[in-house]
Amino acid sequence: MSRSLSGNQIRQEFIDFFKEKGHQFVPSSSLVPGSDQTLLFTNAGMVQFKDVFLGTDKRNYTRAVNSQKCMRVAGKHNDLDDVGRDDLHHTFFEMLGNWSFGDYYKKEAIAWAWELLTHKWGLDKSRIWVTCFKDEKGQIEADQEAADNWQLQPGINSDHILFFGRKDNFWEMADTGPCGPCSEIHFDKGLEYCDKQNDPKHRCGVNSDCHRYLELWNLVFIQYNRTSPIKLEPLPSKHVDTGMGFERIVSVIQGVDSNYRTDLLLPLIEMVRQLSGQSEKERDENFTPYRVVADHARAASFLIADGVVPGNVGRNYICRMIIRRASRFGSKLGLNEPFLGKIAEKVIEQYSLAYPELEKNHKTIIDNLTREEERFQTTVESGLAYLEDAILALNSKGITQLNGKLAFDLYATHGLPLEITRDVLREKNLEVDQEGFYNAMEEHRINSGAGKEFGPQGGEDAEFYSTLGDQLRKTSRLENKGVQYDPYTLSTTESEIVGLVFEQESVKQISEGQKAGIMLSKTGFYIESGGQVSDLGLINSEKGKNVFEVEEVRKPAPGIIVHFGKVRKGKFSVNDMVTAEVDQKRRQDITRNHTATHLLHAQLRKVLGEHVRQAGSLVAPDRLRFDFTHPDALSSEEIHQVEDGVNQEVLNNYTLTIAQKKLSQALDEGAMALFGEKYGEEVRTISLGGGKPFSYELCSGTHVNETSEIGSFFITSEASAAAGIRRIEAVTGRKAYGLMSMRLQQLSAIKNLFKCSLDEIVSTSEKILAEKGHLLKELAKFGSIAAKNEYQAAKSRALILDGKSVVTLLLKDSSIDTMRELADSFRQDFSSGIAVIANMVGPGNIQLISTVTDDLVKKGISAGILIKKISGEIGGSGGGRPQLAQGGGTNLPKLKEIFENIHKYL
Ligand SMILES: [Zn+2]
Ligand SMILES: [Zn+2]
Repeated sequence: MSRSLSGNQIRQEFIDFFKEKGHQFVPSSSLVPGSDQTLLFTNAGMVQFKDVFLGTDKRNYTRAVNSQKCMRVAGKHNDLDDVGRDDLHHTFFEMLGNWSFGDYYKKEAIAWAWELLTHKWGLDKSRIWVTCFKDEKGQIEADQEAADNWQLQPGINSDHILFFGRKDNFWEMADTGPCGPCSEIHFDKGLEYCDKQNDPKHRCGVNSDCHRYLELWNLVFIQYNRTSPIKLEPLPSKHVDTGMGFERIVSVIQGVDSNYRTDLLLPLIEMVRQLSGQSEKERDENFTPYRVVADHARAASFLIADGVVPGNVGRNYICRMIIRRASRFGSKLGLNEPFLGKIAEKVIEQYSLAYPELEKNHKTIIDNLTREEERFQTTVESGLAYLEDAILALNSKGITQLNGKLAFDLYATHGLPLEITRDVLREKNLEVDQEGFYNAMEEHRINSGAGKEFGPQGGEDAEFYSTLGDQLRKTSRLENKGVQYDPYTLSTTESEIVGLVFEQESVKQISEGQKAGIMLSKTGFYIESGGQVSDLGLINSEKGKNVFEVEEVRKPAPGIIVHFGKVRKGKFSVNDMVTAEVDQKRRQDITRNHTATHLLHAQLRKVLGEHVRQAGSLVAPDRLRFDFTHPDALSSEEIHQVEDGVNQEVLNNYTLTIAQKKLSQALDEGAMALFGEKYGEEVRTISLGGGKPFSYELCSGTHVNETSEIGSFFITSEASAAAGIRRIEAVTGRKAYGLMSMRLQQLSAIKNLFKCSLDEIVSTSEKILAEKGHLLKELAKFGSIAAKNEYQAAKSRALILDGKSVVTLLLKDSSIDTMRELADSFRQDFSSGIAVIANMVGPGNIQLISTVTDDLVKKGISAGILIKKISGEIGGSGGGRPQLAQGGGTNLPKLKEIFENIHKYL
């Protein structure tokens, strides 16, 4: 290429190019997709615009451009297997895209793509190939329009415009919904890149599965709505959705033969090489571990910056797995100390300009990587040793597949993720039963009470409700954008029933006793979001003649809100006018806990540091629960400081400021955004404290007007929620008062028992405990004296057998210490003898000690054998040295019988 551009410049030039063409720059959404429960990670640029294509969301722009962070490491799009093996695949990658929402179409999209690639970036026109759609089944119209537009591009070779079928050139979001033909742009890297030249069946060309033609950019033209497997309806407004693999275009512009040799990844590779001490030649001969380490270190850094720390389930498992996999590949290069932090430093340096969240979370990223590597290193050796054993066992039996349950055990007890087990097995031409692994994992999760990964939203009934929503919109019972939803001002709403659901069917009427769902034209019931639970309450009509109790509120599909519950009285029909009343007392409790959560978050950052980030939250009426990133348990001093700080802010009686702002403005002003939450262009911000607010968050929850409404705030527990994540639970308002009041009553009861004043409770308790300690000591002394007296009596009864003295003694409620003391006394008192001392502590619990003098030990008599025998006979066990042994049992009558016939046992 004629121009030398850095990766960062190429990204910026792409964005600027489309900005000049009237596009709005929309920052990358989080790797954790907000409301899309079907997706583990954001895997394409269009994820954050899905609702726009579905017609359930509108933006105030019709052209957008961005570079999106993507992960393809699990599920349908899983590139993990290819990472490291070739130069094209990544777990994490960036996707550049431009969008038209009912604005421009094929003509502009194609012309601009051509202009950017050939004019601005100077790609060789003779090496560019494009593909258009032609249905192999002849059912869908061919996309001649796209081909015609390609023909018009200056300098294009007409022979390079090809047609392909559904697999390559027809894009669908799902089995139903928006879809359309697409047009791909491929770059011919040259015949030398064909890795199938020796394959006689290979016909080198676009889409022929060799490394010569690089797919660079996919332009999707969304023009249909699929309503059934055979039916496509034209969309009223057509959209453009494009995606260009960023690492690929950078490799082409920089003229390198691998994504890993672009300036995006080479600095990471170089850092790995320096740490390993290998030469460049050695590196190039053994490039795979370099690629894996660079790729995984980059992916893990971005994940942690988006709040996904290493853990055992779902996304957190993926984060753990890639760190461990990188660590294992590092060890192949001789890197046996934690080293990923050093690679991550390079990632942060390289990417922070475009993704400032990396620098913001610098310390968190390095800490989490290093901690996870250390954790892995403590178990990896034993894990790999177990795996080697398992491999030997497989080989000896001639089996080629490792049992999935065993693979899971390797993970659960030795920290070997499935993917590493699979790597190791593959190196020996073996495989693992992956389904069995996931089954075992799922079983383990359910057994450990963790439950299913995803919450109630979305779910199995999503499809039913989205169809129902479409029907309601068509009959214009529902506005196009859905239900009017305002939990902030509508505590009691006069509303119309637009739909009823009974046993997963749309019905016209529901009546007393039925469990059903009600859809209203508008509602003030809050729907679970941002951790705040849904509202409960009543829906009634005809002044309370008919009553429905709302037990759950959900948004099962975009634009649809359903109040689930039970008809308590009367009946309800579609089109009825009803009054929907939120349970106000409950709502106030929730609201107090929500505002207190913001105060708690701010105080934690103040007391513990800026690395504290929200990692989960529950705002319920009876308590609030807040998970946050922090490596260690909080000291009681820190807990007190946080609690005290929150109560100070409550008493300061700050007024809440709620404002609608542009997302970019709010973020620039330092508002805290939540991971995994999808934000629109306009966001709702909550700030507390004037001037520079001490708490400033993006939040859609309900809040108090002034902080004093919270009343009091008490932390009730602090514990670990997951690796690197702490959990605090707290109460406010009525619950806080209730807790305080109960504690005072308990204190008062103690005060009455101790017959002292409240102020004297601590000193009185100390005094009583000291007295108790003293008394116990006294008691032990008397016990020991009594035992010694009984020993003296037993001594005088000693049996003499062949010149040996035999003493048996049965004590009650004595102690092992005293029994040992007596055994010592016996050995001093007798030059040749055997003693067996028993002690009854409670019913059915007998302790035994036996001692044998040294002269008899020499003759082969052993206290250990004796005790073992006696203990066995009285229903217990025991043993020990020949001189002194200890045991026990339960059968007292049997013990007495043994003592009477002790001579038989010697
Ligand atoms: Zn080829
Ligand atoms: Zn909030």
